[in-house]
Amino acid sequence: KKTAPERWARSTCPYCGVGCGVEAGVKGGRIVSIRGDRSHPANFGKLCPKPAGLPEAVHHPDRLTHPLRRKPGGGFGRVSWDEALGEVAQKLGATIRDHGPDAAAFYVSGQLLTEDYYAAGKLARGYLGVANVDSNSRLCMSSAVAGYKGAFGSDGPPSSYADVGYAECIALWGSNTADCHPVTFGRILQRKRDPRVSVIVVDPRRTATAEIADVFLPIRPGTDLALANAMLRVVLDEGLVDERFVGRHTEGFEEAAEIAYEWTPRRAARVCGVEAEDIVEAARRFGEAKTAMALWTMGVNQSAQGTLKNRAIINLCLATGNVGKVGTGPFSLTGQPNAMGGREVGGLAHLLPGYRLIENEGDRREVEGAWGIEEGSIPSKPGLPAVESFRALGEGDVKFLWVAATNPAASMPDLNRVRKALADAPFLVVSDAYPTETTALADLVLPAAAWGEKAGAMTNSERRVSIVEKLVEPPGEARADWEIFAGVAREMGFGEAFGWGSSAEVYEEYRELTRGRFPDVTGISHERLRERPVQWPAPDRMDHEERPFHGIARSIWERDEEEHPGTPRLYVDKKFNTPSGKARFAPTPHDAGLAEETGTEFPLVLSTGRIKNQWHTMTRTGRSAKLTKGLSGPFVMLHPDAAGSSGVTDGEAARVVSERGSFVARAVVTDEMQAGTVFAPFHWGDLWTEGGSVNDATHDERDPVSLQPELKGAAVRVEPV
Ligand code: SF4
Repeated sequence: KKTAPERWARSTCPYCGVGCGVEAGVKGGRIVSIRGDRSHPANFGKLCPKPAGLPEAVHHPDRLTHPLRRKPGGGFGRVSWDEALGEVAQKLGATIRDHGPDAAAFYVSGQLLTEDYYAAGKLARGYLGVANVDSNSRLCMSSAVAGYKGAFGSDGPPSSYADVGYAECIALWGSNTADCHPVTFGRILQRKRDPRVSVIVVDPRRTATAEIADVFLPIRPGTDLALANAMLRVVLDEGLVDERFVGRHTEGFEEAAEIAYEWTPRRAARVCGVEAEDIVEAARRFGEAKTAMALWTMGVNQSAQGTLKNRAIINLCLATGNVGKVGTGPFSLTGQPNAMGGREVGGLAHLLPGYRLIENEGDRREVEGAWGIEEGSIPSKPGLPAVESFRALGEGDVKFLWVAATNPAASMPDLNRVRKALADAPFLVVSDAYPTETTALADLVLPAAAWGEKAGAMTNSERRVSIVEKLVEPPGEARADWEIFAGVAREMGFGEAFGWGSSAEVYEEYRELTRGRFPDVTGISHERLRERPVQWPAPDRMDHEERPFHGIARSIWERDEEEHPGTPRLYVDKKFNTPSGKARFAPTPHDAGLAEETGTEFPLVLSTGRIKNQWHTMTRTGRSAKLTKGLSGPFVMLHPDAAGSSGVTDGEAARVVSERGSFVARAVVTDEMQAGTVFAPFHWGDLWTEGGSVNDATHDERDPVSLQPELKGAAVRVEPV
């Protein structure tokens, strides 16, 4: 029965990187309804089904409400916050004292708000000398971070969602946008009503996204670089290069072109398993369009060549002049709601706030100065990225791990190894709003406030910072994550530096650290965000002569406005953040395919992903009857030929086996799959199924630059159960 809200309040959806504005209906201290915010530029009132399940998830009886301590004989017992924070402080202090700061690690999340991230980073890097702070964004966007940094000298997607409305050609590469970024897909559908607009889809699977493609390129997994080089060659051969842009504003073109010339469409067609004519057609459409965008996500990033794949797509945009103008751009669609915020605030192991680098002495001195700590307090080397961190935990080098707002015991690749490392960890503290596969292995569980119970900022894929509102009180004794980190800091004697009275104060401290930096948010406050979301850079000064970075439209700066309006598009002045000010091409050879080769024993390639109504490991969406309705548990999709040779029947249980482990799922036999590949969503962990998790079968081989694991390329076989 529908309950009419007493009031509606604006906030932001906590699921994917589209960052849709929502309005939450509140009644009697409970969130009772969610609808789209028509004024929010990311979605103009549109929503996908997921946020509708938030009221059920937020008020679910499973919520963690009190700190819990593992009992010696098994199970958990309730402890007070004082005891819990005291124990974390004691274990953290003892670990660092006895084994050094590298023996401690923090694994945080793109689900955290910017203020939560900031508090964790300040405590770990600044006050404990712990470099090992990494985020689950490592599994999601780190190849895009490396791609942008390499090409433009700085991270940050240059475009806006609004650009979709002006693009003549839209290439969707390794992205099932229809299911994973549904509101953005809606924009693409709308744009496609114009018959002059064409869509190219590159994906080994014929997804719902592929259904709208004018050119669909169902390449073999791991062959993206062959395709991208061949497309660049067609652009070169057919005179579709924007010579003026390339000549004036880029460098490294010849080296990239030399590699591209090795790839005739015919050669690439053989490697990729598609028609040469289709490669030519895709390249022509992209190159001939006045405005073209390339959008990509995990199919590109979750790869042992993820960084090169990003560079290859950016090469195509640079060669055709599709950077820094309306309707163009290389645009990585962020998976998580605040993965961008995490990047800005220093949530990856090599970063400090404001896109500073931990390896850069000047950057460290600036942060140490801002934090009022001694020079040399911040470690000078990057910490361990996600996979290395869990490996170090398993090998005994990391002895204290704090996991916040993420569920590695279901989401990490090579899960048997990770599960064992977590179970055997000398001390594991997990802060979360719900019981998960990871809290089940913790020594100490700290109850965190969920969405709607704490205020803070999030940044979506288009660099737009939006407010998440506190609408209701957290249940029991649950607290905001930033408060939990600050509580431990106080226990350790750093209370003065963590004495914030609200998340707005945390944000104010963070934003000063962005002053004059590329992701400058000094013109943004919680108060301003309550009026409207803003895209960074958004400095608080309008003096463009003093700006120490490039990329902001002079016309915007020169407007006589009191507040900077935000920056919808980067690099409009064609000045990039590289030493030369030019964008960089990169040679992107296709030297290797997938990190793990298929063979007689494991003849199929397993790709993992998401479905439309579920999110990650179902911590919230799995607790919504609205979203689980009609969902009949884990499934694996495979081609009729693969089903036939495996002896697997449609609708029956099948076991997917790799060298590392296996999982059981219902077989869905469909010609949407290529004969050599299988696809399984990774949502169901051990809490939801007894058949094992998809990540029991995946491997953790990584891209050498981004260190992002290849979650889309495990060699498996499928067998009847
Ligand atoms: Fe939320 Fe993403 Fe759906 Fe928008 S598209 S409503 S941000 S999950």
